[in-house]
Amino acid sequence: MDKKTPVQYPLFVIQRFKGKVLFDVPMSGYTSWRIGGPADVMAFPADETDLKDIMAFAESKGFPVHVMGCGTNLLVRDAGVRGVVINMTEGFKDVSWHVDADGARAVAGAGARLTELLAECRKRGLAGLEFACGIPGAVGGAVCMNAGAYGAEIKDVCDGVELITKKGARRFIPRDELGFGYRTSNIPKGGVITRAHFRFRTADEALAARIGDIAGRRRLSAKVAFPNAGSVFKNPEGRSAGALIEAAGCKGERHAGAQVSEAHANYIVNLGGAKAKDVLHLMAMIRDRVYSASGVVLEPEVKVIGED
Ligand SMILES: Cc1cc2nc3c(=O)[nH]c(=O)nc-3n(C[C@H](O)[C@H](O)[C@H](O)COP(=O)(O)OP(=O)(O)OC[C@H]3O[C@@H](n4cnc5c(N)ncnc54)[C@H](O)[C@@H]3O)c2cc1C
Repeated sequence: MDKKTPVQYPLFVIQRFKGKVLFDVPMSGYTSWRIGGPADVMAFPADETDLKDIMAFAESKGFPVHVMGCGTNLLVRDAGVRGVVINMTEGFKDVSWHVDADGARAVAGAGARLTELLAECRKRGLAGLEFACGIPGAVGGAVCMNAGAYGAEIKDVCDGVELITKKGARRFIPRDELGFGYRTSNIPKGGVITRAHFRFRTADEALAARIGDIAGRRRLSAKVAFPNAGSVFKNPEGRSAGALIEAAGCKGERHAGAQVSEAHANYIVNLGGAKAKDVLHLMAMIRDRVYSASGVVLEPEVKVIGED
């Protein structure tokens, strides 16, 4: 979309769209890094009709579409995002529970927070999501990223997702077709997850202790005081990205407002006023130094979108 051309919405979309629509909105207000230039349009669909309308509108105009949840794994470049950003965190928060003899199935909206789902599991005495303690994303982003920690991942509890395809069709994609891998899945390009189906088992008495243990380990491993997006790089097979970055002498390195965290070498923090270009500079420096020091090529875990 040409930045100078205001977006013209067909009347029917404006009249029946129930969610919020913002124009020229700084993405820095919607990412945990507090970084990112403006999105031309940010739409918060309230339900599936809204979602299909906004997707059909973008498709008919040829506008690019980006989907986001809580923005906790996103680096948005400084010139922002052309097209439409679909923010799933205001609608799609519903969770329904189906209890059975072995535990329960839950169908959770893409905008539901993982930590809230975990709190409900704890209340209901259900196990499987303990690893998500402290992961700040929403269900859609967590499935897309196959979020995980301490040896467990979303794929261990997810039975499949409901999705609206780029062409506006509704599909259920079972777990086996989601192509889950380490911090990745193969959600069809242009598709938007609306709900995820989970299976949780009845917990033993140690559930609360396990959650407490993970919360404690997280507090110790990541005492990071500044805005960040969690781990920037994936752990290479059998290695720790943080240890490699530290060994390469990058911990504490600074570029303008961005710094390789002194508390956790695989985090880059925004000390105040950092730009995406500062973070990208540090990411390039880290990759070069780690490669020189160890021969390992680090792969980013964070998703980078938008224009320079
Ligand atoms: C302090 C901190 C700690 C973290 N710790 C962990 C951790 O231990 N383990 C871990 O795995 N991650 C961790 N993360 C990263 C992040 O929280 C997870 O990856 C999270 O699952 C991302 O969810 P989100 O809603 O923020 O997604 P976003 O960042 O908004 O989006 C991430 C990706 O998912 C896609 N997406 C989002 N919603 C949808 C949807 N509905 N349909 C289709 N695609 C969608 C986006 O297009 C994007 O590509 C951490 C982040 C922070 C800030």
